[in-house]
Amino acid sequence: MPAPKPAPHFFDLDPDSLSAHFADWGLPAFRAKQVMQWVYQHGVADPQAMTNLAQRDRDLLSDRLRFRLGSPIRHESATDGTQKLLLQWPADHADRADTDSPAATDPPPLAILGQSADDSIDAAAQTECVMIPAESKVSGRLRRTACISSQVGCPVGCKFCASGLGGLDANLTAGQIVEQVFQLQQIPGIERITNIVFMGMGEPLANFNQVVRALHTLMADWAFNLAGRRITVSTVGLPAQIRRLADLNLPITLAISLHAPNDDVRRKLIPWAERVTVDQLIDAGRYYFDRTGREVTLEYILLRHVNDRVEHARELADVARRLRANINLIRYNEVAGLPFDRPTTDDVHQFQHVLRERGVNTHIRASRGRDIAAACGQLRYEHQHS
Ligand code: SF4
Repeated sequence: MPAPKPAPHFFDLDPDSLSAHFADWGLPAFRAKQVMQWVYQHGVADPQAMTNLAQRDRDLLSDRLRFRLGSPIRHESATDGTQKLLLQWPADHADRADTDSPAATDPPPLAILGQSADDSIDAAAQTECVMIPAESKVSGRLRRTACISSQVGCPVGCKFCASGLGGLDANLTAGQIVEQVFQLQQIPGIERITNIVFMGMGEPLANFNQVVRALHTLMADWAFNLAGRRITVSTVGLPAQIRRLADLNLPITLAISLHAPNDDVRRKLIPWAERVTVDQLIDAGRYYFDRTGREVTLEYILLRHVNDRVEHARELADVARRLRANINLIRYNEVAGLPFDRPTTDDVHQFQHVLRERGVNTHIRASRGRDIAAACGQLRYEHQHS
């Protein structure tokens, strides 16, 4: 006999689909609106605490809907205010993930590593999300940026990253992606997330459909109501998926994780670079810019003596100018067991200076939460190997 279908996950539902479930369960449509308000406006995800619902309806919702799926199994706070959650997901939810095949012209990301997406999430189904506070240089207001995951593990396997060490375990559903933001907002003192970056575990564009559904919820006025310009999707580079995203014309920012100024250096760091060249990425980035009118950002992790030399900066400036892109420089956070080092402060500033001299808009992203293993995938890696 097939296993019974798990109850729907609240964060997977929009108002119409929630109302449809309520109609099936004999609840009036206005109850759906009330429940949406409890969750998204008041941060209440326990039906028993929804005090304007009859007790009978609260019991019914406790029975039929699942609100929080992720269990925070570790919560760490850094001295700079960064907060990190390691979430454990239940085993019965993964078969709802809509594994999305990249478009034909992109490298087959699973096959390239000889892996297949495993739909049965096991005890290791853990993902990380991080809240990074920072004062806006423009308005002086406090920004609270959520860095969220799109997959369990990652199929890309960047050589410097803890998330890619064990390969890909599964895709997250849109609801699981959205729930990370809710869970971070539940941490006392955070109140409201103001910005989102898809820079946690996983390659967002290899889980395209679920990520796009999550983006709609994050921007919806009935949910988080975040302006698109406050959301950044970061990809290591699937050119056909970048074009597909451009065609949707969502008002979000695209960041390409380039990490190298040429194919030779990139291939040493990113296995997918065997199949996708820097030129192909720049062409896809141009397409994104032409279609949406929004500038693309290049992300560049500086690794000591690997990609942080002056000649790399000169070459990178040429690439950025072709794309009219901004560059975010990120100083590498060391991961125990991986053979990469953090560059010196002087080298980072020298690199930025060379880029700026060549007219490229460049920021150094502050390394936050070093004391809580805030680099991508590091907390999960440490938890599973402790
Ligand atoms: Fe995946 Fe990003 Fe880590 Fe690369 S850096 S392995 S794309 S999570």
